[in-house]
Amino acid sequence: MQPVPTPRITPLPAPVRPDPVRDRWAAPMRLAMAEAELAVATGDVPVGALVLGPDGSVIGRGHNEREAVGDPTAHAEVVAIRQAAAAVGEWRLGGCTLVVTLEPCTMCAGAIVLSRLDRVVYGALDEKAGAAGSLFDVMRDRRLNHRPEVVWGVLADECAEQLRDFFDTHR
Ligand SMILES: [Zn+2]
Repeated sequence: MQPVPTPRITPLPAPVRPDPVRDRWAAPMRLAMAEAELAVATGDVPVGALVLGPDGSVIGRGHNEREAVGDPTAHAEVVAIRQAAAAVGEWRLGGCTLVVTLEPCTMCAGAIVLSRLDRVVYGALDEKAGAAGSLFDVMRDRRLNHRPEVVWGVLADECAEQLRDFFDTHR
């Protein structure tokens, strides 16, 4: 009996599946990535954030400016939250969404809880310092009195690539 020849199988590219949870945040995430790029001019790590009002309009934006202003708390999220609170005229940001290119750290996760944001959308995971699922999960800790919805991994590869590009050329 003749052996059956092994067919050559060319793997198909992975299909691009619609992701109803994440796809709607891709456009604002690209805006946050553009904001992140502004950090590079001052040698700051490119992280960008936006706060969207209840109607989806941008009411706050910020990029990491720790080096630019010499402030250890000048993370993109904190800058954007301060701007949004000033725009709204009070500290409560209920109904608003924060979009950020990198998983928030413990400080920013704390600021997000304190500002009563409804939702946080982030891009790349920060396995070393992330406080939204990686190292800690501050925003979904049931012991706290406010827990925003968390959508993670929106354009995660592109956001991670932006950071890698920076570290490849600056460090
Ligand atoms: Zn932070």
